[in-house]
Amino acid sequence: MPVRPIVKYGHPVLHAVSAPVSAIDEGIRRLIEDMVDTMYAAPGIGLAAPQIGVPLRIIVIDLSVGADKSQLIKLVNPEFVNREGEQRHDEGCLSVPGYGGSPVRPARVTVKGLDPEGNLKICTATELLARAFCHEIDHIDGLLFVDRLTPLKRDLLKRKLKKRAKSGDWED
Ligand SMILES: [Zn+2]
Repeated sequence: MPVRPIVKYGHPVLHAVSAPVSAIDEGIRRLIEDMVDTMYAAPGIGLAAPQIGVPLRIIVIDLSVGADKSQLIKLVNPEFVNREGEQRHDEGCLSVPGYGGSPVRPARVTVKGLDPEGNLKICTATELLARAFCHEIDHIDGLLFVDRLTPLKRDLLKRKLKKRAKSGDWED
């Protein structure tokens, strides 16, 4: 399965709302497998389809980065059923390499979506997994962790990132 290039901050697909998947066919299943391979190769614990330039509402997450396949989550058209509480931790992003920030996230989330076979899946998560769901669902809504920082930190980081995006010179 091919590993696809990860698009970086400033690419329009990262800053737009992605479209729902209308039907899960072989093409979508292949795309999901490419997303998993790309996430593992990066390596990362989550990836959303727009990060490989595809504006569709699909996310993959694996906190074990492939070490424990039972932790692999593949969700089509994910949406929040519930969000409660607050937590705040450092986050990074494969599309914003070399930078980080600490956005406020819900402490506990329940997410529903479809698996690659089209079955309804409902997941409740806390701690890192809750943050990963929020981070990846933000991607399909055109938001990056940068957009969720306090105004001062956000503006400072955005200025740096715009410069970096212009130069096209990302440190991976
Ligand atoms: Zn990200």
